[in-house]
Amino acid sequence: MNSYEIAVIPGDGIGKEVVPAALKVLEAAAQIDGGLAFKWTKFPWSCEYYLEHGRMMPSDGISTLRSFDQIFLGAVGMPDLVQDHISLWGLLIHIRREMKQAVNVRPAKLLRGLRSPLREPKDFDLVVVRENSEGEYSEIGGRIHRGPDEMAIQNAVFTRKATERVMNHAFELAKDRKGHVTSATKSNGITYSMPFWDDVFKGVCTAYPDISTSAIHIDALAAFFVMKPQIFDVIVASNLFGDILTDLGGAIMGSIGIAPAANLNLEREYPSMFEPVHGSAPDIAGKGLANPIGQIWTAKMMLDFLGYKEIGELVLAAIEDTLEAGVKTRDLGGNATTSEVTQSILDHLLNKQ
Ligand code: ATP
Ligand code: MG
Repeated sequence: MNSYEIAVIPGDGIGKEVVPAALKVLEAAAQIDGGLAFKWTKFPWSCEYYLEHGRMMPSDGISTLRSFDQIFLGAVGMPDLVQDHISLWGLLIHIRREMKQAVNVRPAKLLRGLRSPLREPKDFDLVVVRENSEGEYSEIGGRIHRGPDEMAIQNAVFTRKATERVMNHAFELAKDRKGHVTSATKSNGITYSMPFWDDVFKGVCTAYPDISTSAIHIDALAAFFVMKPQIFDVIVASNLFGDILTDLGGAIMGSIGIAPAANLNLEREYPSMFEPVHGSAPDIAGKGLANPIGQIWTAKMMLDFLGYKEIGELVLAAIEDTLEAGVKTRDLGGNATTSEVTQSILDHLLNKQ
């Protein structure tokens, strides 16, 4: 029996609705496998916690989390009461950085039973591998002068280590997929970092002679996501480019409420963190309207990372069966509740044994 200790942080808003839904699905997955078990430890760290304690998580929160195998997170954010930079830097980015979760993996795929907002939806199945620790989101720079000469400088940081790490992971993923990696670049406009990115990409390519590659400028790449997403397999991108592409990926799938994500510590020195792309969605929180699929697909990514790919596929198939049966939340044009969608996924999953 493999038993995993999972730190569960439901967070705020719909996080508190979709996380319990996904835990039910993970319990069902463990039941199907027989040799898999989870032990959940829940932490109330969130904006609500901040309002009470003046911080998003306790000062020893990171060392507490380090004793777990993985972290399963809903969403944090209460924009009316807590500024976004506090909730982001006080918990999400804090954990990503302290746990060295340097790679962010976000699939986008046209699921059975769903209609893409694209006019002629193609059968796309891609995954964006985003650098998660440096790049354009650096803290180096500043604002200088005042008055008419005022200016801001923001430095982007690209290290060979982090760039190679994210690119290697993209190639490793491509081996088990369609065998193609696309690099998101902009070396025709950015003078130093992107030519460096291209050089590192060329170097990594040589280690994977069986994988075909292309490098496409980010502006054209974004257009291709809309015009012909079916041409892509794995896309490797910097922090900023990956951020933008993955929201677009969620949009062409039909709803941000179904988009999954994983923040990986590939070295497995520290826990990885699994959290959907969407946020706490305060506008629909507490009403049973939240789509649990993003969180449940995120749970499938955790199963994959733990080595339970076959069960992960069953979970995804149960999601698709549910969509095909027309059991959909409002964001997908249906009228089912969070618990109805969850129950349907559970029924399909348990019927597959
Ligand atoms: P954050 O800053 O945490 O990313 P946000 O406000 O930018 O939050 P979301 O919380 O993801 O973004 O919400 C964006 C929109 O998408 C909202 O209108 C919300 O209701 C909707 N939405 C997000 N997630 C879901 C979901 N799981 N089910 C249904 N609708 C969702
Ligand atoms: Mg947002």
